[in-house]
Amino acid sequence: MKVNVPDTTLPRIVIVGGGFAGITLAKKLRNADAQVLLFDVDNYHTFQPLLYQVATAGLEPDSIAFPLRKLFKDQKNLIFRMAEVQRVDSREQVVYTSIGHIRYDILVIATGSETNYFGIESIAKNSLGLKNIPEALDLRSLILQNFEKALLSSDVAQREALMTFAIVGAGPTGVETAGALAELKKHILPRDYPELDIRRMRIHLIEAAGRVLPTMSEEASRHAAEDLRKLGVEVWLNTRVRDYERPHIRCNANAELRAETLIWSAGVLGRGVEGVVREYEGDRRLRVDRYNRVEGQENIYAVGDAALMSTEVYPAGHPMVAPVAIQQAERLGDNLIRQFEQREQKPFLYKDKGSMATVGRNRAVVEVGKLRFSGFFAWLMWMFVHIMYLIGFRNRLVVLVNWIWNYFSYDRGTRLIVRPFERRDPTPAEDDPVEAGEAAESVNGRAGESKARKNVACHFPQKSP
Ligand SMILES: Cc1cc2nc3c(=O)[nH]c(=O)nc-3n(C[C@H](O)[C@H](O)[C@H](O)COP(=O)(O)OP(=O)(O)OC[C@H]3O[C@@H](n4cnc5c(N)ncnc54)[C@H](O)[C@@H]3O)c2cc1C
Repeated sequence: MKVNVPDTTLPRIVIVGGGFAGITLAKKLRNADAQVLLFDVDNYHTFQPLLYQVATAGLEPDSIAFPLRKLFKDQKNLIFRMAEVQRVDSREQVVYTSIGHIRYDILVIATGSETNYFGIESIAKNSLGLKNIPEALDLRSLILQNFEKALLSSDVAQREALMTFAIVGAGPTGVETAGALAELKKHILPRDYPELDIRRMRIHLIEAAGRVLPTMSEEASRHAAEDLRKLGVEVWLNTRVRDYERPHIRCNANAELRAETLIWSAGVLGRGVEGVVREYEGDRRLRVDRYNRVEGQENIYAVGDAALMSTEVYPAGHPMVAPVAIQQAERLGDNLIRQFEQREQKPFLYKDKGSMATVGRNRAVVEVGKLRFSGFFAWLMWMFVHIMYLIGFRNRLVVLVNWIWNYFSYDRGTRLIVRPFERRDPTPAEDDPVEAGEAAESVNGRAGESKARKNVACHFPQKSP
């Protein structure tokens, strides 16, 4: 079956993925003499940097998502289809999707990345990722459900296990999630659950490297680690999680920890599409040249997290961050127009605008070139940049109002279990009477998600590392 789109004599540019790269490229092509066909499995664009705020009840999902149809409502040469692109036949120049197949003249892979579990099956099965809105909502529900369950448990150890959270990976996502959980512990949960001793809640941040935020400067790492510790987060460095069978987390040096909730933010892999290359290697990104053309392909390009462009400055590829995706898509859009006009194309050159991470209210670390900031001013900068990058005036306003409200009221309005998180794997935790009772009816609510998930509990030694 052919995908239902009008036939055209114009060149057809198929873009797979409506993330930062996909939407930037599509917009850049708005005046191109071409039919631009955009596919995404979702009908919305997700602003991933704020997913952790959805997961920790700070924001509603619709304030960090934007409908793709609305985004392109005025772009006459663009057609959007909500579908998964499953395979590419590069010889015949056809993509096969969940709604049929379609010929392309130019194909752009902008499929982003997926969570890297480093091949550890038990972690893939038992932990929670934070890559998309359904996962953020799963985590939000699980956090709140844990406290509801803790109220029902008369077993002290069990109660504490339910109130313990382990986050693996102390990059910006891990650090920001740990900070947000610590803020929940400080300001929200004691009011919501006065019958529980919330001081017993524990938040562990586990990092394989020797410092948090390993991609930022040592100074930034030090500031962030100090801020985390001030917030009560237990930071574990040089600690590699090797295996996770609920409730046991096994780390290097035979250390064993127990955890009820494990949030995995320790790495990502490029998400390709079958048929574009013969074999994926390394971090599974598609190797591209300086024009984002996939190696060995004539008219297939890759941009953003899905692409690996090796340059003198970035021999192992650019960081997998939004500014790279946006800048590559802008350059590619410009180059495709140049190609149509038979003008010379320009190689991609990344302009690093810096990096930042926030650690709860009033605290952040920001690096822009040689300039380094931390504390309140850095936090204001962090907020400003995130608001500016959000898509849509409404989203910007809603997020800003939410943040102002949360700041002055010490409250978060979205502590709702709208869609309870239920495990697909019916095995109950060995020491969890609450779950054991529910196990028989456990089914994960996420349609189409293949990964089994179940809840976990964390028991680290009390001493600070
Ligand atoms: C929790 C989190 C926090 C982050 N924080 C920051 C930050 O603070 N700053 C920063 O710069 N970066 C951050 N990043 C990274 C940043 O979000 C990514 O680098 C960026 O989203 C990459 O853009 P992209 O367009 O390549 O991919 P994405 O934005 O991931 O978009 C890929 C799109 O492709 C679609 N798709 C995938 N496969 C298919 C298929 N087969 N068929 C159809 N559609 C498909 C997906 O649905 C998705 O919409 C964060 C990422 C995460 C997960």
